[in-house]
Amino acid sequence: MTSSPTPDPVVLRAPRLLDGTGAEPVADAAVLMEGGRIAYAGPAAGLPTAAGVQVRDFPAGTLLPGLVDAHVHLVASAGPDLAADIPRSEAERTLAAVRNARRQLDHGVTLVRDLGAPGAEAVAVARAVEAGEVEGPRVLAAGPAVTMTGGHIPYLGRIADGPDAMRVAVRGNLAMGARCIKVVATGGVLTKGVDPREPAYTQPELDALVDEAHRLGMTVAAHAIGEGGVAAALRAGVDSIEHGMFLDEAAIELFLATGARYTPTFCAPHGILAGPSVPEWIKERARPAAEAQGDSFRAAVKAGVPVVAGTDAGTPDNPHGGVARELAFMVDAGLDVLLAVRAATAEAADLLGDPDRGVLRPGAHADVLVADGDVTADVAALGRPAAVFQGGRQVR
Ligand SMILES: [Zn+2]
Repeated sequence: MTSSPTPDPVVLRAPRLLDGTGAEPVADAAVLMEGGRIAYAGPAAGLPTAAGVQVRDFPAGTLLPGLVDAHVHLVASAGPDLAADIPRSEAERTLAAVRNARRQLDHGVTLVRDLGAPGAEAVAVARAVEAGEVEGPRVLAAGPAVTMTGGHIPYLGRIADGPDAMRVAVRGNLAMGARCIKVVATGGVLTKGVDPREPAYTQPELDALVDEAHRLGMTVAAHAIGEGGVAAALRAGVDSIEHGMFLDEAAIELFLATGARYTPTFCAPHGILAGPSVPEWIKERARPAAEAQGDSFRAAVKAGVPVVAGTDAGTPDNPHGGVARELAFMVDAGLDVLLAVRAATAEAADLLGDPDRGVLRPGAHADVLVADGDVTADVAALGRPAAVFQGGRQVR
């Protein structure tokens, strides 16, 4: 945190700017922030003249929108075994969520979607950030993930079985303050005895959940690893597929037909496989998914499926603030760097129902990351914030 207040209005200057839409970089660029909003973003030559406005120059930097991480678990702190590492008491989990939110902000992340907690921990952080009581990214919180009896991550969710219970679960989360819904549509790597590739819910159950969530104005994210569960979730009309390591042609066609977005979460299996203390039973279950992931991702990108950056932060050896790493994985897998940046800015903010973030354009919220380096030449520069602004205020 900076001690002196950020000047308002203020101009940021850098040799290049990415607006978040995937458009070509703007050279010799400037952003004018005023009253918490962006007043101008583009070539410095086009900056409206205003006497006495302070200028902050970043001679080696890249100006970008604040980053979005569309898949995090704020209560979890990246210990080697998720189930064992989540604090037992709600009080401790909420404190962990506050710490992890701050960590995200320090890494240039100004908006996150929390996709599963035991209770209202992330909802509480969302409200506290909005009220200005806690420093962190804006949070769109799902509350407890909806999972079946015997399903994946019951410790980050609530159990629901049968179409009527799915509607009750959605309403229960709404009452708790959740503003989106997470459903567990297949097994998962981190839950013993639950095959990640096998579907969980029946079609009528998923249909009921999505219908109820959409009726109440909430989007739905589906945890789905195997192609059967991916297809069932897409047929039900979910807004995003999380993980999706095994995609076949039918699944990709359903993505295109429904307009759903794809959050591959490369960081999740990578953290598990690289983590020195992660139990071997978890690594064994992650390997097939990690091996299938690159091909699924390339096929989806080639077909034109919109991709969104989400890290699954909080899972084993996958600490909060790692969205730059997620983008590096995407670029390694063949995605154009401008589209990778779009996946963590405009595309993600739109999925999260916040299209006035994730873009540098007049009228948008003044959430700005200044990366230390040329992001177009070195995507890792995203992991080196020179400055972070939220609502026009410098927060790092
Ligand atoms: Zn997750």
